[in-house]
Amino acid sequence: MPRNKVQKLAVIGDPISHSLSPAMQNAAIEKLGAPYLYQAIRVRSQGLKAFVQGRARQLAGFNVTIPHKEAIVPLLTRLDKQAALIGAVNTVVNRDGKLIGFNTDGAGYLTSLEADKKFSPRKKRIVLLGAGGAARALAVVLTMADAKAITIANRSPARAEHLARELALRMPPSQFIACAQQGKDFEAALKTCDLLINTTRVGLNGTAFPDFPWEKLNKRALVSDIVYTPRMTPFLKAAKRREHEIHTGEGMLVFQGALAFEIWTGLKPDAKLMRRELLRRLAK
Ligand code: NAP
Repeated sequence: MPRNKVQKLAVIGDPISHSLSPAMQNAAIEKLGAPYLYQAIRVRSQGLKAFVQGRARQLAGFNVTIPHKEAIVPLLTRLDKQAALIGAVNTVVNRDGKLIGFNTDGAGYLTSLEADKKFSPRKKRIVLLGAGGAARALAVVLTMADAKAITIANRSPARAEHLARELALRMPPSQFIACAQQGKDFEAALKTCDLLINTTRVGLNGTAFPDFPWEKLNKRALVSDIVYTPRMTPFLKAAKRREHEIHTGEGMLVFQGALAFEIWTGLKPDAKLMRRELLRRLAK
């Protein structure tokens, strides 16, 4: 591709019209004056293979969102190590026709913890609420960052157990504990927890956990939510009322995007500008 020609980037998913990534990424592109354009492309599940074999080849790279993060894995040329461990891809780069899959969700979360809260997971005890795709991505990167113990607490405890077992097989020595979101094991994990993270869908559009046992949570625990609509979820509001330090979810979105941008372009985007643009859109 000639250097001065505008190269195309995209986010694919279904639905996709609500995505805030084009606004955030195009703000960064504009600021750098870089020859790229980022757009949202709706790709239905049944059209994913055709997209990867066809239109994807015209792009310099793209983000992948719901429902394709796992389905795209076998269609790519190869995965980087972290994406392989997570088993899902949110960023694809086109290197001379080879489509390489990355996962910047987990790394974006860690970058946000460090940048926004100066928090390092090293030797920390962490409780993850949820056992879905986001919980898996965070469990992998938190383990790689030397967390001491990770408790996966899920509404359906069987799913938590399955994830904990699978991670224990794949990851370096690390302590994974699975439990329900109530009961003695959960309360014991809360008591010694340094970081409590909501990775469930609870909080989306203002929903709340009924009867969360806040009184059991270590008073010094940082409380984090990866849901960012609304930015102040009922979970974070409840934590703040109990004087916990809180960490909001938009940082993960900003930094997963900034890391993807670097992979595609080799340029460092202005993450502060990306966050401002995101928050402006979220406030509408
Ligand atoms: P997922 O794979 O579908 O997993 C959903 C999880 O939410 C499961 O653990 C599920 O528990 C739990 N859940 C759903 N409704 C619940 C309820 N009423 N009470 C308790 N638990 C409930 O979804 P995902 O991809 O992991 O995404 C999870 C959340 O993370 C979404 O809200 C998404 O928007 C957010 N996210 C944010 C970012 C970011 O950049 N900030 C990035 C990725 C994802 P069961 O197993 O019991 O059903």
